[in-house]
Amino acid sequence: MSDPQTLLRQLPSVDKLLHLDAAAPLISQYSRPLVTKAVRHTLAETRARLQNGAAAFPGSEQLLQDAAAWLALLIRPTLRPVINATGVIIHTNLGRAPLSAAALQAIQEIAQGYSTLEYDLDTGQRGSRAVHAEKLLTRLTGAEAALVVNNNAAALLLLLSTLCQGKEVIISRGQLVEIGGGFRVPDVMAQSGARLVEVGTTNRTHWRDYANAITANTGAILVAHHSNFKIIGFTSEPSLAELAELAHQHTLPLLYDQGSGALLDTSPYGLDPEPTVTAGLEAGVDVVAFSGDKLLGGPQAGILAGRADLIAQLKKHPLARAVRADKLCLAGLAATLTHYLKDGATNHIPVWQMIAAPVEQLAERAAAWAAHLCQHNILAEVITGESTVGGGSLPGATLPTWLVAVKVGQVDQVAAALRQGNPSIIGRIAANQLLLDPRTVLPAQDTPLLDSLVALRDLVMPV
Ligand SMILES: *Cc1c(COP(=O)(O)O)cnc(C)c1O
Repeated sequence: MSDPQTLLRQLPSVDKLLHLDAAAPLISQYSRPLVTKAVRHTLAETRARLQNGAAAFPGSEQLLQDAAAWLALLIRPTLRPVINATGVIIHTNLGRAPLSAAALQAIQEIAQGYSTLEYDLDTGQRGSRAVHAEKLLTRLTGAEAALVVNNNAAALLLLLSTLCQGKEVIISRGQLVEIGGGFRVPDVMAQSGARLVEVGTTNRTHWRDYANAITANTGAILVAHHSNFKIIGFTSEPSLAELAELAHQHTLPLLYDQGSGALLDTSPYGLDPEPTVTAGLEAGVDVVAFSGDKLLGGPQAGILAGRADLIAQLKKHPLARAVRADKLCLAGLAATLTHYLKDGATNHIPVWQMIAAPVEQLAERAAAWAAHLCQHNILAEVITGESTVGGGSLPGATLPTWLVAVKVGQVDQVAAALRQGNPSIIGRIAANQLLLDPRTVLPAQDTPLLDSLVALRDLVMPV
């Protein structure tokens, strides 16, 4: 056995490795400087291994292969597409709403060149980015004016900073929600410099609780949608209309964090009626805030809609610039809103297509998946199950669905292999089975999903 010093002396130089034939394709793929870095890194690691007692040096071919693997990992994006077979339609960790074809096209057209983002073609002068979605939003919601910002948390921050800084904001204790990722609506609100005045109890807040809390220093009454939880049993909250009347008696604005951005009624699909943006405005809300990428089904955005004088104040606040929406968001949002205007949301917006998917169609797809898997010797059967809307809307509400249950020996191992695959697939695990819900799998993903499973046949076969 050679001693470490002899082995170290046998290691080829960086230059020698770069001049090998096998290095040429790497250099053309990654550039010479980057391959040089990779080779240096690989040599350093090998040197360390030899010094730590490794008995042999791996040979030049292997060193280049190690460098190639390092390069492949380096440029592999961490933000990658996945196939969502969980049945959770608005899955915040998986990127919330997939976009419609028209939204994607609009984004591509605007992204690949210059645009009228802040340019008025009539006058040849500077224009405003605020115009691109505002008219669509006011037409759809009935609001007098609207403003698009980065996300709903930013919308709330801007809203309270502008209208309630240094003032009191009255909110029910039943509405102080945590929205995931450790973020709490009250904390976002506190950042605005408004002071939260909590009224009522977790399960019951009365009109008089709000009325008694109004002082000379009150800036607004705020109602926040419960979002991701449900209070059942002995509960009560005054209606938006009652609170609007109370607020207006005191010349205060009623602000409403609606959350989901539902523009359509969810009840025709067997779901509880999610409060809509329009219903909030009709009840007398002065400004409503909601997300663009939940039930609205568009890109990440926060939307503020309501009274023209208040929206005008929001637009002028310095924070408006800090949280403004970018051109890709505006392009995708405008295209998404156009679907609603043309009454085509359930035909074109993926989130709504998934909500509205007929259960027979899901049964058919699940049956086709299971049959395909069985043909490839994978034990799979179709069972009934439930999909959820997710994304902090319709807490607890489920839609009946058909699942493919794949029987496997080591379910965690299979789930991990599917996550690590290309494409990555995320399913559900229950009772040592892998469950796949066709509702949230886009139709074009059926084939890659099945191919990935078949490729894992040896792992998937029951032990
Ligand atoms: C989701 C949600 C938010 C946060 O919205 P983002 O778009 O994630 O910033 C705030 N309030 C409610 C009620 C929500 O449902």
